Amino acid sequence: MLAAAVLLLAAGSTAAASSLHHDLRVRLDPETRRLVASDRLRLRCPCPGTFALLPRLAITQLTIDGVDVPPARTDGQVQLPPLPGPAHTIRVRYRGRLDPPPLDRVPEGPTMSRTGTFLAAAAWYPTFADLPFTYTLRVDVPASQRAVTAGRLEAEAEGGGRWQARYVSDGPAEDLTLVAGPWAMQDRQLGPVRLRTWLHPEIADLATAYLDKLAFFLDLYSAWIGPYPYSAFHVVSVPFPAGLGFPAMTVLGTSVLRLPFIRDTSLGHEVLHAWWGNGIAVDEREGNWAEALTTFMADYTFVEWQGPDAARELRRRWLGDLTLLAPARDVPLAAFRARGHTAEQVVGYHKGALVFLMLRDRIGAEAFTEGLRRFAAAHRFRRAGWSNLRTAFEAASGQQLSAFFAQWVQRPGAPRLRLEAARTDGRRLRFVLTQERPPWSLEVPVLVETTGAPLHQSIRLSDERTIVTIAVREPPRALEIDPDARVLRRLARDEVPPALRHVTLDPSTRALVLGDTGDDREAARLVVGSLLESPPSEHSTDTGLPPGPLVIAGTTATVSRLLAAAGLDPAPAEVSGRGSGRAWATWHPDGSPLVIVTGDDAAALRALARPLPHVAAASWVVFAGARVLARGSWPVAAHPLRAVFSPPSSGARPAPAGAPRRTRERSARSGAVNRHDLETRMASRSACAEASAASRSATLAIASPRCRAILRRSRRTARPRASR
Ligand SMILES: [Zn+2]
Repeated sequence: MLAAAVLLLAAGSTAAASSLHHDLRVRLDPETRRLVASDRLRLRCPCPGTFALLPRLAITQLTIDGVDVPPARTDGQVQLPPLPGPAHTIRVRYRGRLDPPPLDRVPEGPTMSRTGTFLAAAAWYPTFADLPFTYTLRVDVPASQRAVTAGRLEAEAEGGGRWQARYVSDGPAEDLTLVAGPWAMQDRQLGPVRLRTWLHPEIADLATAYLDKLAFFLDLYSAWIGPYPYSAFHVVSVPFPAGLGFPAMTVLGTSVLRLPFIRDTSLGHEVLHAWWGNGIAVDEREGNWAEALTTFMADYTFVEWQGPDAARELRRRWLGDLTLLAPARDVPLAAFRARGHTAEQVVGYHKGALVFLMLRDRIGAEAFTEGLRRFAAAHRFRRAGWSNLRTAFEAASGQQLSAFFAQWVQRPGAPRLRLEAARTDGRRLRFVLTQERPPWSLEVPVLVETTGAPLHQSIRLSDERTIVTIAVREPPRALEIDPDARVLRRLARDEVPPALRHVTLDPSTRALVLGDTGDDREAARLVVGSLLESPPSEHSTDTGLPPGPLVIAGTTATVSRLLAAAGLDPAPAEVSGRGSGRAWATWHPDGSPLVIVTGDDAAALRALARPLPHVAAASWVVFAGARVLARGSWPVAAHPLRAVFSPPSSGARPAPAGAPRRTRERSARSGAVNRHDLETRMASRSACAEASAASRSATLAIASPRCRAILRRSRRTARPRASR
């Protein structure tokens, strides 16, 4: 989850010889929303010619080396006269009145109110572009409030109805974020690290649970990677729905903090960014590796702890998303900078996490951990890229990994495997594996089920066509290629059960909004907007079903009429006639994702807008009002990388009950391969719930669509800095 963040870096990583220290004093009066500040800047040159300060903040005094200078401002930039000589001291006094924060989204600029002050990244202090700095910040707020930055709290005092504190940066930073609120603070010392929660009174009872989880994650990752890079970690509540990550600090809305998965999964992700993305910054020239590694070691690892079934379901889900990605969006990992939309998350987070899984499978868990530790120690408070990771893992494993990293980081797309001509005579198994040109170099696990113990093998592929022969002791019953979904690859369409989230993978998704009244259609529009990241183009029903990814939303009766008229299947039994609202995913006749959302009336539709994005991992959901009554995933329709053999002695094997005619016919051929056996693997409900929790933690679904849009914008302007 991230956001405009403070980023600690090696000093001098930009603007070679320049350096900057802020000695900042800030007084906040939330009652009147007034900020009064003074900043004494010590600047070592070559010196920049301008700094940024929000136009709404009036400069009351500007002095350079003790001499008053009239401030010259254009478009938020303050011009400085030429500054010859090696070092200068600039003093800026400024003040202004800020807006109150919106309550439904992350504010775009600095805001202040009795319920919270949020000063993040947008020139609320004299800001020199691309010049990392150290700082001392003295902040002064009413005694009923507290204020926090990512820095180290060095001193605090209360008196005269005010609370004052001094924060000092742990190292050079690129941004400074200051948050204040009427909080209750609780803290705990964990070795050298101070853990703090700053929570609004109405959620103050969550402090212990958050401190427990913080301690757990810090212990986990310190033991795994090496020392935590900062002196503190803060969990901070704000009155608007946010999920933002900063070095040593996560800023979350009060409503968000109440969600249990936030502290169970998202918090771990944010804590891990202290190492990946903040403690070691991303070298943008090589792409953002930090989200991939953080997703692998946090979100994926937490699901792995649930057991192998849950982890396999998550991998299959990620591979399914990758499969549905338009080829143009399936970019190399090296091209990923920050998550703007779901397609970028599929590559930067999930595909990247699968690359780390394959690396661990290849070099072993021990060498993998050793590589992480070497990488962390070598690049602390510096920038690093994929090539530095490769060097660390090569040193740890003694293996040459340049081909592995070149293929998975630099190359777009993913391999697609095909199983052909699988045959057995009872003692040997022969099959052909093909892939598209140019072939990928792959290590593919193979499972042979026999009348005795199962046989596990690994096959190395580097050609378009590989003929494989395996000797077996007992007659084989079935063969499955990559049964555990451990190879990063595109699946066959039949292997991907339709899910609600699939319509979010393509920004060109269209919408049909149905209802008898304007109010019905407005409610349907609201639901569509909650599910999609960008406003869809709406189509009229007069011209038939528009092609491509599509959401149909409306009242139950009007949607039923449309489905019948368009020759589409009616609502499936799992949702039909249940609850007051329902959503299900299926395929459009042209093969694109299709999601249908119905509500019994406008109110029932409106109730779906909030919960729907949180259950988008499911294939179908039934709601009573805004409450989820039931949900599930459709079974996998086919396993094209699985072949089932009929016993040669007995000839045909009966097809499973209810299997389509085609399956029965194929199975009837003795010794032939049933490439479309309908054995289904229904995701267990718990795995499904876990996967959706992981998805929520990783998608910022906790923020409103508008908030997501703002974050996208802020990421475009800010440089990519780790975190989600
Ligand atoms: Zn992240």
